[in-house]
Amino acid sequence: MRVTFLGTGTSYGVPMPGCDCAVCRSADPRDRRFRTAIYVETPAAALLIDTPPDLRSQCLAAGVRRIDAVLMTHDHADHVFGFDDLRPFTNRMPEPMPVWASPGTERTLRKIFDYLDRPPIPGTSLARIDLRTATGAPFEFRGVRLTPLPAEHGRADMIGWKFECGGKSFAAIPDCKRLPPATLDLCRGVDLAAIDALRIRPHPTHMNLDEAAATLRRIGARRALVLHLCHEVSHAQAEALLPAGISPAYDGLQIEL
Ligand SMILES: [Zn+2]
Ligand SMILES: [Zn+2]
Ligand SMILES: [Zn+2]
Repeated sequence: MRVTFLGTGTSYGVPMPGCDCAVCRSADPRDRRFRTAIYVETPAAALLIDTPPDLRSQCLAAGVRRIDAVLMTHDHADHVFGFDDLRPFTNRMPEPMPVWASPGTERTLRKIFDYLDRPPIPGTSLARIDLRTATGAPFEFRGVRLTPLPAEHGRADMIGWKFECGGKSFAAIPDCKRLPPATLDLCRGVDLAAIDALRIRPHPTHMNLDEAAATLRRIGARRALVLHLCHEVSHAQAEALLPAGISPAYDGLQIEL
């Protein structure tokens, strides 16, 4: 399984337009963060977590040529507004692309992208999507076992995703404030875990670095990463503040499991 971080930034992205702070002006390429999305490749499947507004640029930057299915986490703008950028991929597929979403996220997607429930106009190229409800139970897609991971993130019907393939496992929870005990149990001992850490100061609906570090310690992954960082913390700063064994992800980071 190969995991590529297409984006590791919060909803504003980093740098933030109009901001002159040290992180937004940083020369470190790891301080340039697209909105959060993750690409997971296995021998038989190419899977995408979320469709941020940067999706087109992210696919070009990382050389993504194929997406077989999408796993949505929640319906916030920074995770869904690149949905139409799936078209270059859906256009090449013989069947509609499967997209899994929690019930709340599915409802929002059907409202925003109302063509999902309308017959296509011949000759046009709307995304051909097979939108499916992630009910909570694990399921298989092309040899990958996929488990939705419920998480607390404001009012969102938020789920992270656990991937299991070829004896390896990866858990990704891009936005969260707290993980229920059942989700912690599902994540325990995975080979790779990546969870939300917005900044140093606390936030009502996102973990900060301390909360993420404490949660990752409980998960006990072989390798632990934080993402969804905002411009208040540089990559180097986050790296220095996080305990040994936990590091910040960055755009373009690729991990083979
Ligand atoms: Zn987000
Ligand atoms: Zn800034
Ligand atoms: Zn969110």
